[in-house]
Amino acid sequence: MQEIKVQLSQHKKDKPAQEQLPFGRFFTDHMFVMDYSKDKGWFDARVIPYQPIVLDPAAIIFHYGQTVFEGLKAYITKDQDVLLFRPEENMKRMNRSNRRLCIPEIDEDLGLEALKKLISIDRDWIPNKEGTSLYIRPFVFATEPYLGVAPSTTYQFVIILSPVGAYYKEGINPVKIAVESEYVRAVKGGTGNAKTAGNYASSLKAQEEAEAEGYSQVLWLDGKEHKYIEEVGSMNVFFKINGEVVTPELNGSILEGITRKSVIELLKHWNIPVIEKKISMEEIYQAHGEGKLEEAFGTGTAAVISPIGELNWENHKLTIHNGETGELSKKIYDTLTGIQTGIKEDPFNWVLKVE
Ligand SMILES: *Cc1c(COP(=O)(O)O)cnc(C)c1O
Repeated sequence: MQEIKVQLSQHKKDKPAQEQLPFGRFFTDHMFVMDYSKDKGWFDARVIPYQPIVLDPAAIIFHYGQTVFEGLKAYITKDQDVLLFRPEENMKRMNRSNRRLCIPEIDEDLGLEALKKLISIDRDWIPNKEGTSLYIRPFVFATEPYLGVAPSTTYQFVIILSPVGAYYKEGINPVKIAVESEYVRAVKGGTGNAKTAGNYASSLKAQEEAEAEGYSQVLWLDGKEHKYIEEVGSMNVFFKINGEVVTPELNGSILEGITRKSVIELLKHWNIPVIEKKISMEEIYQAHGEGKLEEAFGTGTAAVISPIGELNWENHKLTIHNGETGELSKKIYDTLTGIQTGIKEDPFNWVLKVE
């Protein structure tokens, strides 16, 4: 494995107050950078002071969006240990996204080393108030100056860190969701199962319109028939119907969330029935009508678990669990965040300590 060089920052920035830390607005003193060229492969792995990236205006990333990203969090425990949650899964997924976007793969062990090294250098940036964490954003982008449509021959892999506050101010709170019947996020054969910028750019319009109607996110339906449930905002989605938990099966257009995977493993561990299958919005509507829709929640790194209190589907308003957080949603939230922050036992070996 190549060595990671370190150049420390000469001017340490002031740290933001831990009360009301926003999401993704503050960045630490350092960043990790590595370059790629066709002849050299990935080279010059280094930690350097946090700074702007200079690119040619013709760089392929600006025009054709050849880029992927990841997102995960580090927590500091009461004993001052730094914990990462299943980071090797993020590295694997980054390479799956890379392959889809014709970006050269990155040595996953080196990626993990880079992450750990950067975090240990900036470890005094990890907030310790309840609910806070250090959000980690690895990303790769095409740097070659070329206006032709072709995979770039040069890239950069960068990791930045951002101290973030609690996603919910007071415990977990249910959100209102609009079911999106016009726009779609992704289609099978497209890039929905890769973590790439274009998926987010194309989701902005629906999000903006839903917010104007008083909803915080949209529930995406499939791109072909607008019938089957895919995801909620940028989270995976689960429903508890008549004692059984269901979530849309991975179909090529759904992003394979690591929180999703962990929730499924946790439910199995608890012997709670959980099924991955195609779920139509009609089925959810019917289950609600019969009083069998017990809970609904989104899953993702940022919020971990986000309970759904209301779904609006073509002007039918479905209130779920009286608009309050369900028992199972709460139990999953407490367990996952407990494991992530080192408060709860980790029978699955999910957390990795940063030395
Ligand atoms: C990142 C992401 C998720 C959640 O994945 P996690 O690994 O659980 O954070 C879900 N859907 C989309 C579209 C995403 O980009």
